[in-house]
Amino acid sequence: MRSLTTLLVVLSAWFALSAPALAAEPRSLSPVQQEVVRYLDGIRPELVTANQEIWNFAELGLEEYRSAARLVKMLKKEGFQVREGLSGMPTAFVAEYGSGKPVLGILAEYDALPELSQEITGQRKSVFGRSTGHGCGHCALGTAAVGSALAVKQAIDKHKLSGTVRLYGTPAEETVIGKVYLTLDGQFADLDACLHWHPGTRNRLWYASSKALISAKFTFIGLPAHASGSPEKGRSALDGVELMNVGANYMREHVKETNRIHYVITRGGGQPNVVPATAQVWYFVRANAHEDAEYQFDWLKDIADGAAKMTRTKVSVQIDTDCHEIIPNYPLSKVIHRNFKRIGPPQFDKADLDLARQLQSPLRADFGLKETKALNDTIEDLSEKPDPPDPGSTDVGDVSWHVPTSGLGTVCFAAGSPGHSWQNVAAIGSPIGHKGLLVAAKVLALSAIDLLQNPKELEEAKKDFQKRMKDRKYTTRIPKGQKAPKSIR
Ligand SMILES: [Zn+2]
Repeated sequence: MRSLTTLLVVLSAWFALSAPALAAEPRSLSPVQQEVVRYLDGIRPELVTANQEIWNFAELGLEEYRSAARLVKMLKKEGFQVREGLSGMPTAFVAEYGSGKPVLGILAEYDALPELSQEITGQRKSVFGRSTGHGCGHCALGTAAVGSALAVKQAIDKHKLSGTVRLYGTPAEETVIGKVYLTLDGQFADLDACLHWHPGTRNRLWYASSKALISAKFTFIGLPAHASGSPEKGRSALDGVELMNVGANYMREHVKETNRIHYVITRGGGQPNVVPATAQVWYFVRANAHEDAEYQFDWLKDIADGAAKMTRTKVSVQIDTDCHEIIPNYPLSKVIHRNFKRIGPPQFDKADLDLARQLQSPLRADFGLKETKALNDTIEDLSEKPDPPDPGSTDVGDVSWHVPTSGLGTVCFAAGSPGHSWQNVAAIGSPIGHKGLLVAAKVLALSAIDLLQNPKELEEAKKDFQKRMKDRKYTTRIPKGQKAPKSIR
């Protein structure tokens, strides 16, 4: 009797604690779903700590050693089989639990960005001694993805579900490298479906395409000479880079409006009195369709050759990666949307709203931001027609060319905040990010469990995938057999 009373006290205390999370639509959750939500609420402190640690590591792509290890530790502790260092990338891993079909993938990312050091505060203030920051929120992305995989594992165990959940640790998303090389290596080949999420400014399905992207470095080689004493005996590699850029900027006049071309000069010579013998420019060429990116990239290569001719230098091109636009999937998006509605949007408190308003303040002053809300608080509808293509690129696209794939975005950033901004670094490390990531983990877990239990929905997702892929063929400008780069810079 006493133990029953104790149990009741514990249970009622637990319900009181977890009530806000379940408050959305508790009746629409089945017992299995309620368990998943309870489990994730239970491990919330652990997820928040993981997010904070990875936020602090702020490691750039292909250097995410501590971040990947942090996530691997959580997965191994729960009995996942983990393979590390996949496809030539030390920070890529796959963690698997369960057995047999279906096999469901969940994507994790954890790389940070350069020049985005920022404290968790409402004003621009860099962290002392660090130049990098999580301006895309991948600390939360990886953490929530792992949380969802752990929750699916609990459900597999408790309810004897058949099937396999596979968490993919995918490095260097910011330079669209990880999933591209994992794809080329066949790591997604046996998946039945793949789920993902991304922190954002809106609660919505990622039922939209994205831009294909070819990333390449053009290295010009000239001849060094005294720039004043014997310039006629030198050939400037920097001239090659500059003329190439001029040519590329003239090409812009004749590209499709949705194409994007951007570059940085990574090497430009040593000092002015030596004719630069080596210079390098790094280009991203983007388009809404991969074939358009290929077309534009070929033109760019001709421009590079022309610039080398004009300057009597030599040019070589190193294609680092070639990423494809996302192929949306409606049936999968419906499954995720249904579960998003079940869980409800992140619930923010006054402190969150205050921080978001502070973050928005310079955007209002400098860029005329018009958002009336500090943080978006509704879930957007899903219609059968995909949303307009996302102006960014993601190597989720390459996965989506091989397996039915869909994802969601939850509010983790102030409304209207731009991507890759210091505002987003601050928000994702704050309770705003914690709330957004917990919702994402729940929605991903419930969606994966639905797919394990409803083979019909997986079938529909596959049919939709086949229809969209009917006239498409995956081609890549990455030379056959080329391994993933060892470093990006
Ligand atoms: Zn991102």
